[in-house]
Amino acid sequence: KKVADRYLKREVLGEGTYGVVYKAIDTKTGQTVAIKKIRLGKQKEGVNFTALREIKLLKELKDPNIIELIDAFPHKGNLHLVFEFMETDLETVIRNTNIFLSPADIKSYMQMTLKGLAFCHKKWVLHRDMKPNNLLIGSNGQLKLADFGLARIFGSPDRRFTHQVFARWYRSPELLFGAKQYGAGVDVWAAGCIFAELLNRRPFLQGTSDIDQLGKIFAALGTATPSQWPDLAYLPDYVEYQYVAAPPLRSLFPTASDDALDLLSKMLTYDPKARITAQQALEHRYAKRFHCFFFLFLFLLVL
Ligand code: ADP
Repeated sequence: KKVADRYLKREVLGEGTYGVVYKAIDTKTGQTVAIKKIRLGKQKEGVNFTALREIKLLKELKDPNIIELIDAFPHKGNLHLVFEFMETDLETVIRNTNIFLSPADIKSYMQMTLKGLAFCHKKWVLHRDMKPNNLLIGSNGQLKLADFGLARIFGSPDRRFTHQVFARWYRSPELLFGAKQYGAGVDVWAAGCIFAELLNRRPFLQGTSDIDQLGKIFAALGTATPSQWPDLAYLPDYVEYQYVAAPPLRSLFPTASDDALDLLSKMLTYDPKARITAQQALEHRYAKRFHCFFFLFLFLLVL
């Protein structure tokens, strides 16, 4: 049975934030795809045309480190989003203790994440829901960001679906303090948390509520103060936290290089205006510097 006269439905891949995701074959290209079926809820018109129009814009977002949105169409009251199929995701890789992650692997994953982010931020599109299971990995090891722009179109998912609690661990302090105006910095913060998770192979800041999340952030990085972050006290949900000093970052990441820690601290800077951008992070000496094994490999190749 074909969907929209084009896609041959295969097995269900999982239940996501917005609905069921299933595998399918695109009979037009022979390509394996993943189709996200999005419940449109109780919209009177059945199909939300605003969402559809915005989705069309996402189809223009083409980059090697972004999951391509191949097609989008309404079908039986659901919106169907067709994406390129990916083998696995970064969460699965981080959790799988049989997989060894070398410093070069971590750097490569971070470079691909930052490249995808920088590309979208340049086009003024925010992700807003960055977490390791949204970073998909293809059979060739290529990492691509999934679900770009969906959080804005369909609303922040974690408020409506309880299984989304993990997203909290990647929330920036300005979001946790209720900022209504925020920018690309929220994605950079999340990428910083993912970086930390790659380094230690466990989620960095595992808050159990929004208040606890801020507590965990301040315990790890020191309490945010107006001297570091002038706009802090004007945020809607601002409450004063008891002051704690930051332990040395090095003590939390014993195996990381100095360059890695320097970039990490810049991605986890409290003031979003002072936080490093994805583009600047790509130009940071950690991300720019190739691992010496890579040079050794090149050298051997030349020989
Ligand atoms: P969540 O909203 O919880 O992040 P998703 O809706 O993104 O979940 O995905 C639900 C399931 O579908 C997950 O198991 C995920 O691995 C799988 N999935 C999502 N997108 C793809 C894709 N492009 N290729 C392969 N599997 C995918």
